[in-house]
Amino acid sequence: MNLFEYTRADTLEAAVGADGAILAGGTNLLDLMKIGVATPSRLVDITRLPLRGIKDHDGGLRIGAMVSNADLARDPRILARFPAVAEALLSGASPQLRNAASTGGNVMQATRCSYFQDPLSPCNRRVAGSGCSAIGGVTRNHAVLGWSDACIATHPSDLCVALAAFDAVVEIAGPTGTRSVPMAEFHPLPDAVGVPPALAAGEVITDVTLPDPGGMARHARYVKLRERTSYAFAIVSAAAGVHVADGRIVAARLALGGVAARPWRAHAAEAALIGQPRPWTPLPMPPRWPCRVPRRPATMPPRSCWHSASRCVR
Ligand SMILES: Cc1cc2nc3c(=O)[nH]c(=O)nc-3n(C[C@H](O)[C@H](O)[C@H](O)COP(=O)(O)OP(=O)(O)OC[C@H]3O[C@@H](n4cnc5c(N)ncnc54)[C@H](O)[C@@H]3O)c2cc1C
Ligand code: SF4
Repeated sequence: MNLFEYTRADTLEAAVGADGAILAGGTNLLDLMKIGVATPSRLVDITRLPLRGIKDHDGGLRIGAMVSNADLARDPRILARFPAVAEALLSGASPQLRNAASTGGNVMQATRCSYFQDPLSPCNRRVAGSGCSAIGGVTRNHAVLGWSDACIATHPSDLCVALAAFDAVVEIAGPTGTRSVPMAEFHPLPDAVGVPPALAAGEVITDVTLPDPGGMARHARYVKLRERTSYAFAIVSAAAGVHVADGRIVAARLALGGVAARPWRAHAAEAALIGQPRPWTPLPMPPRWPCRVPRRPATMPPRSCWHSASRCVR
C-alpha cells in the first residue's frame, strides 16, 4: 500500500472540494488500495458527516449518502414502498459488508473486471490509453450493451439497478454548486478512448432521492442470477415492475444489471409492455427464508451482525 495522508471531514463544506479520495465504508476503496489499484495520496473520511438520514421527500424518499446498505434494506418505508430496493440490497455482499457499505459508496464502487483489479494488466479504465486486456481475454461478467473498443466492463452494483428502475436521482455537491443526475445516466458509458469519471474533482454525493413510487414500485421485484446464492456479483439481474389497471399494463419499469457500465433501463421493452393485457396471475411476494436464528436480544444493538440469511430482515 502507498503512503497516504488521512483527514476526517467534520462538515460537508470541508469534504467538498477537498483534494483526496472520499472514504466512506472503505469496503471497496481500501481493497483497491491494498492491491495497488487505487493509490490516493490523501483520504478524506466522510463517515462523521450528517448524511445518515432517510427522510420523506415529496411523496418519495431522500437517502443520505452515508446510510448503510443494511439500514436501507430494513427501513420500513423501503420495505413497504420499494421492496425491489431491499431485495437488491439483500442480494449483495454479506451482512458484515452491508453494515459498513454506504449508499454513496455503493453507487461509486469500481468495476469488478479482473484485469482492472490487476495492476500489471493494461486497462484503459485504470490508465487511459494503455489498452483493454479484457477484449480478447476472459469476458465472463463483461458488458453486452453500451460497451466500446476501449472498455467492456460492467458496473457491479445491485442497488443501483433497482434505484435506476424507479427513477432515482443522485444529488451531488461540488466546488461550483450542486447538481442532480438521474441514476440511469450517472455512470458514464465508455467512449472511444476510455471511461470518463462520473464525478468531477472535489464533488461528493450527498443523497439519492427516490420519487413517489405510485402503485408500481410496491409490487416490483429484483431478480439476480449469480454463480452461487450468496456473496457473488450478478451475472445478470433485473429490477422490474408493472402497474395494471382494468386488466392492462399502464406503466412498466425494467432495469438490467450486469450487462453494461451502468444499470441499463430497457425503455423499448417498457414501452412495448404498455397496453398489453395482464396475462398472468400476480405472484405473491416470496417468503423470507425460514430463519432459525433466535430473535436479537433487546440488549444487542440493531446494527450487530445477528443474522446471516441474506433475505432475513429481522
Ligand atoms: C466481498 C464483496 C462482495 C460484494 N458483493 C456485492 C454485491 O453482490 N452487490 C453489490 O452491489 N455490491 C457488492 N459489493 C460491493 C459493496 O457493496 C461496496 O464495496 C460498497 O457498497 C461500497 O461502499 P463503501 O461505503 O464501503 O465505499 P468505499 O469503499 O468507502 O468507497 C467506494 C468508492 O466510492 C467513493 N465514495 C464513497 N462515498 C462517496 C460519496 N458520498 N461521494 C463521492 N464518492 C464517494 C470512494 O471515494 C470510492 O471511490 C461487495 C463487496 C465485497 C468486498
Ligand atoms: S474491460 Fe474496462 S476495466 Fe476491464 S480491462 Fe478493459 S478497460 Fe479495463
